[in-house]
Amino acid sequence: MSSKPTAAHTDETEHESDTEPASALATARRQLDRAAAELSLDPNIVERLKHPAQLHEVTVPLRRDDGTLEAYTGFRAQHDSVRGPYKGGLRFHPHVNREECIGLSMWMTWKCAVMDLPFGGAKGGVVVDPKQLSDGETERLTRRFAQELRDVVGPHTDIPAPDMGTNAQTMSWFMDAYSMQEGETVPGVVTGKPPVIGGSEGRDGAPGRSVALITREAMDYFDMELSETTVAIQGYGSVGANAARLLDDWGANVVAVSDVNGAIYDPDGLDTRDVPTHKEEPEAVMKYDAPHTISNEEVLELDVDVLIPAAIGNVITADNAHRIQADVVVEGANGPTTFAADEILAKRDVPVIPDILANAGGVTVSYFEWLQDINRRAWSLERVHEELQTEMLSAWNAVREEVDERDVRWRDAAYIVALERVAEAHERRGVWP
Ligand code: GLU
Repeated sequence: MSSKPTAAHTDETEHESDTEPASALATARRQLDRAAAELSLDPNIVERLKHPAQLHEVTVPLRRDDGTLEAYTGFRAQHDSVRGPYKGGLRFHPHVNREECIGLSMWMTWKCAVMDLPFGGAKGGVVVDPKQLSDGETERLTRRFAQELRDVVGPHTDIPAPDMGTNAQTMSWFMDAYSMQEGETVPGVVTGKPPVIGGSEGRDGAPGRSVALITREAMDYFDMELSETTVAIQGYGSVGANAARLLDDWGANVVAVSDVNGAIYDPDGLDTRDVPTHKEEPEAVMKYDAPHTISNEEVLELDVDVLIPAAIGNVITADNAHRIQADVVVEGANGPTTFAADEILAKRDVPVIPDILANAGGVTVSYFEWLQDINRRAWSLERVHEELQTEMLSAWNAVREEVDERDVRWRDAAYIVALERVAEAHERRGVWP
């Protein structure tokens, strides 16, 4: 089932100015309004950008290992494709819902535009707890989901990638199912695959690498020495662990990291290579012998120079924003700071370097992967790292210029860079018929 949603389809409440928006979609719309006001954009284009071009909802039947049949709900929100094919991850998570997918698909549009990639924004997923599925069940679910989305994805229309609860193996199954139906191998239908089937070197570590690169630039901008910087990171998966280890390598003092079970804290700095990442050993952070263990909430409130929320969305809220003691927040996860928390942090002069810039290394190396797939030619890891750094620095500079010139918040500045590009493309292309 596909639908073109209007405001009536959503839980959007546009007039809740002093309350916390109820969903990622409501948050994304209010962020858009803030930035659009700064740019005095054509209100018709802004109105159009508050809605996804298409929202696909599908039922994904799964035969469980015990023979019973279960029906799961899957979504794919395709927000905007004015600059190129839709692009964005697929989540397997019990909290996946239509508003979340639409909000996250909007953030992908801005993320691709901030990075000046020739892509629009999408996001999707299945409402399922992947921890409850065997490998065989996950494979069957993924293949059937790929089949349900087959008409609306493709290397030139919409290119999924990993996100929460999915990984390179999930992408391999998705690519295989799509390719089998097409009758030819189509590596460019998804990114985040293993290199042996057209994935890119360095894709796994890319979101964390971009978080580390942006943190390094931010430290330089705020005149803070990286070697004297203390960092707390919530989440030790692909984003958090890679950011932690790189910042540690570059001399920063990573004092706390966490996973779902809690956090470890050593004011003298952790040896991040010794803390098992989620990929090395799931949920094993607490096995590291640290002087202090604290809760996942407490890690957010530590008195550190940099806080990197790199786990899930909506963790810095109106409830705890006034207790955040970090001097700078760099968003590793998508949407970790709520709209109300943003306001509180801004009043307290705590800069928040937004997700759509900081973790954009993932989709940027996805773009490199897509180019490699189209050209049937692999890049070396060195080339990926080099080109990623070039792209991240150019995006950082574009955003920093807006901050300096307009005296706006970092999130607004990133939105402004993105919106100018997207709005101009809409203006040039126009509305047809
Ligand atoms: N899921 C990642 C993100 O949120 C990557 C998306 C992609 O590579 O398409 O940015």
